[in-house]
Amino acid sequence: MNSTSAKDIWDAALGELQLQVSKPNYITWLKGTVGLSNEDGTFMVGVPHSFAAEWLQKRLYSLVRKTLVGIMGHDVEVQFEIFNNQGHPVSREPVRPFLATPSEEPASRSNIRPKLNSKYTFDNFVSGSCNQLAYAAAMGVAQDPGSLYNPLFIHSGVGLGKTHLLHAIAHNTSLRGLRALCVSAEEFTNEFIDSIRGRDTGKFRSKFRSPDLLLLDDVHFISGKAQTQDGLFHTFNELHNDNRQIVVTCSQPPRSIPMMDDCLCSRFEGGLVVDLQPPDYDTRFALIRAKATQQFPTISDAVLHAIASQCDQNIRELEGSLNRVLALAKLTGEVPTVGMVEDALCAASNTSMSTPTHSLIMDVISEYFHISPQEILGRKRAAQISEARQVTMYVIYKEAHYSLSEIGNIMGGRDHSTILQGCKKISTDLENKPQLREHLTNISALLSDRHSSP
Ligand code: ADP
Ligand code: MG
Repeated sequence: MNSTSAKDIWDAALGELQLQVSKPNYITWLKGTVGLSNEDGTFMVGVPHSFAAEWLQKRLYSLVRKTLVGIMGHDVEVQFEIFNNQGHPVSREPVRPFLATPSEEPASRSNIRPKLNSKYTFDNFVSGSCNQLAYAAAMGVAQDPGSLYNPLFIHSGVGLGKTHLLHAIAHNTSLRGLRALCVSAEEFTNEFIDSIRGRDTGKFRSKFRSPDLLLLDDVHFISGKAQTQDGLFHTFNELHNDNRQIVVTCSQPPRSIPMMDDCLCSRFEGGLVVDLQPPDYDTRFALIRAKATQQFPTISDAVLHAIASQCDQNIRELEGSLNRVLALAKLTGEVPTVGMVEDALCAASNTSMSTPTHSLIMDVISEYFHISPQEILGRKRAAQISEARQVTMYVIYKEAHYSLSEIGNIMGGRDHSTILQGCKKISTDLENKPQLREHLTNISALLSDRHSSP
């Protein structure tokens, strides 16, 4: 079908879409878009800028597709492409030929898109020192797949953003018309097993050996599964030889995966291996701020700090904490407060374990640093005393769950912003001062000894 009829089809689609979306959305995102082409089962829509392309892809993809299918009477894939004011596409990426036979195409295509989480985009990824390299590498392979690092191997503990980055690569490359196949290693295993049982080898091959990018999540799942590893090895080689991009995520670095074939490990190591570390304080703070201000633009830094200080290992749990606080705030119809954070998070934490009192914390820290409680509470600014004072604030905050203003009172009448600063300083220093980490570990151990002894 030529581009004139694509224009007519799109004009008809716009007529229908105008009735189905709100007026502001129609004016902002759809008005002025054009039907560029309709070839090989792909309908190309011209949009004015990449932001519009991304928005339409994220929010209106299924409605646009449904509308086009209704008008044309057959299934179609939709792509949004940037075009200039004269209506000509700019830097139009050729859509690589897809090797599947036409009858297999719709099935394998429909397997790709719906599994992506629309929130897992590069825009929504907060980067900091804990994840900068992985973030930059993921953006790099999305920009220039198959040529920078191939494969890109991303490993980390749970809840630190591996799947998020993988989906972000898929979203980003799909917007430019590239075929990104994003699957978990479990799905890969199931499909591989089905295929060697002789049912659909052709389908497996065409699905896994033809995309421009293969994004394989949680590859540790195939540890100990020799046949699947073999299947992946061949898939890997075929894609790699053809300069198709491979991105793999895993709970460990390649050589630490138990019962994993050596050849496959060395393939995994052949590009770039990067990790995601637990989020440092600043990243946690930025992350909480990014998510919380969408709902409560006036939320205070003290509240953000209170949430960001709670959970330092796992972003998924951090999001869970934030959601509990926001839910509580919505329920009461108020902007979240530090008290609410305490209510929401202390209730959820293990309340059966009683917490140490602030005077016990003060005694332990005073003995540990050989600095009297009077000096800790006083105003002297000698470095050692200041540090002991800030450690006391931090430990009372973390272990005894007082609010910042309560700690201010305990600490000899300081205001909550001084306490906030003190806690923040210790959180930050903990990232790069091993000796401070050691002090805190020792203090924790002393506290739990004293606390549990009758
Ligand atoms: P993993 O795959 O490593 O277990 P996920 O990618 O599922 O972790 O991330 C867990 C949650 O944390 C998701 O909701 C994800 O969007 C969020 N998340 C992780 N890292 C970041 C980040 N740097 N910025 C924003 N959100 C993040
Ligand atoms: Mg994951």
